[in-house]
Amino acid sequence: MMNRTEYIIPVEEIEGILERARDASVTEAEAIIQKAERLTGLTPEETGVLLQCEETGVIDSLYKSAKRVKESIYGNRLVLFAPLYLTNTCVNNCLYCGFRRSNRILERRVLTEEEIRSEAEALIRDGHKRVLVVAGEDPEQCSMDYLERAIDIIYTTRVEKGEIRRVNVNVAPLTVEKFKRLKSAGIGTYQLFQETYHPPTYKKVHPAGPKSNYAYRLTALGRAMEAGIDDVGMGVLFGLYDYRFEVLALLYHALYLEREFGVGPHTLSVPRIEPATNAPFSLNPPHALSDHDFMKLIAILRLAIPYTGIILSTRESADLRDRLFHIGVSQISANSRTYPGGYTEGNKNPPSLNPLPQGEGKELLPPSLDGRGKGEGELGFSDKKGQFSVGDRRTTQEIIRNISMNGFSPSFCTACYRVGRTGKEFMDHAKPGEIQRFCLPNSILSFKEYLLDYGGEELRKIGEFLIKKQTTAIEDDHLRKATLKKLQEIEMGKRDLYF
Ligand code: SAM
Ligand code: SF4
Repeated sequence: MMNRTEYIIPVEEIEGILERARDASVTEAEAIIQKAERLTGLTPEETGVLLQCEETGVIDSLYKSAKRVKESIYGNRLVLFAPLYLTNTCVNNCLYCGFRRSNRILERRVLTEEEIRSEAEALIRDGHKRVLVVAGEDPEQCSMDYLERAIDIIYTTRVEKGEIRRVNVNVAPLTVEKFKRLKSAGIGTYQLFQETYHPPTYKKVHPAGPKSNYAYRLTALGRAMEAGIDDVGMGVLFGLYDYRFEVLALLYHALYLEREFGVGPHTLSVPRIEPATNAPFSLNPPHALSDHDFMKLIAILRLAIPYTGIILSTRESADLRDRLFHIGVSQISANSRTYPGGYTEGNKNPPSLNPLPQGEGKELLPPSLDGRGKGEGELGFSDKKGQFSVGDRRTTQEIIRNISMNGFSPSFCTACYRVGRTGKEFMDHAKPGEIQRFCLPNSILSFKEYLLDYGGEELRKIGEFLIKKQTTAIEDDHLRKATLKKLQEIEMGKRDLYF
């Protein structure tokens, strides 16, 4: 009999699909891309064909199609968030992570209540409204009580007109009972990355601690849903195993959630392994992914599971992130610190590996300065503190300026989950591409708030121009007028207006 793990991720079936897909023709691949534009997603077999295809013409159509699909569903908004690391203590020993328990040189830290508040204040002052709480796995020092308290502190911290309005969480798998407590704490999305779906690789890179249990981790998102958390995020740490296998496994995992709970993942995260101190698998990942393959897999995910948000972190360089916005990414982190206390301590970004603004002229830099391929000692963060090195060191304002100049609409919107548009209800709006009726006006309103409260003079000019253009582009007469009215109210001092 098939066990639960195989039922969710049928390893042999995935390998078979990838094997057969090698024989697919270019015509088949082109037809699959055309089909994807209907926003119905792809089957594992179709996804396999695209993963195996290396024809330049097909990859080109793939990128164009991913852009169109993203725009049909979410419009041109890009949601911004920042991670908030509560702890870096950990009972596990993941071979790729700087927080692993064998890393003796890491300065361990568990934020106090005062320190959590101070981190939240720093993020609010930077204009953020969405925070992703991150922690190592440590049942004693990062207990359920501690987590609940931390979330409450973040939600209740205020700086002038600013506040955090959505707290998402990325912590170790919990029991259904504990997930219920997380739900009651008012979290948005619960995120958990399987890291690798390939069982032998999983075993190798997770040699100790509770995380060595592949099945317990694989079934965690199901437990979260059972507990009533209907927005869950999944992900893979790319570089541990063949990306083609991992992408298909992600799709199987998403299909399983849809089958079992009637709703697929709210988000997909696509971290690539970055160098981390004393983490042997991070410096030379066994399946290191080229930028080309990375772009390709993001575009394929956009076609295969079109309704999900695709999240990109600051692990990636500024230049690559800019390119990925065009092919399917819909949420990004900005100005991230990957260690507890990083925002309070580091009022300034660490010295940049990329001295050029907005990635311009980046091709002129030697490979050692392109933000990847860094060796230990030149990681750009304090080796004694960080989880891994950050590739995009631009400030939030710089990132927003760049997004706006590229015609995207920066969004700090938190409306959906606060009006109960979560889980199946969100998907019912997202699948036919109706969610952008809310996304565009809400991104405009949240951007207006940002410009008034945190924008510099130059950014305000750029932003106001974009807001005008985007508002004019709202086709529905009633919605456009309502947006203009709310914009005026924000101008008069009102905050937190949304549809
Ligand atoms: N400790 C919990 C866990 O492992 O699920 C949650 C927090 S962990 C700090 C968040 C994520 O960081 C992990 O799921 C992993 O994918 C990612 N990560 C760990 N080491 C990394 C590295 N060297 N480069 C990029 N991402 C890394
Ligand atoms: Fe701990 Fe998570 Fe890092 Fe593994 S990835 S060592 S569980 S913090």
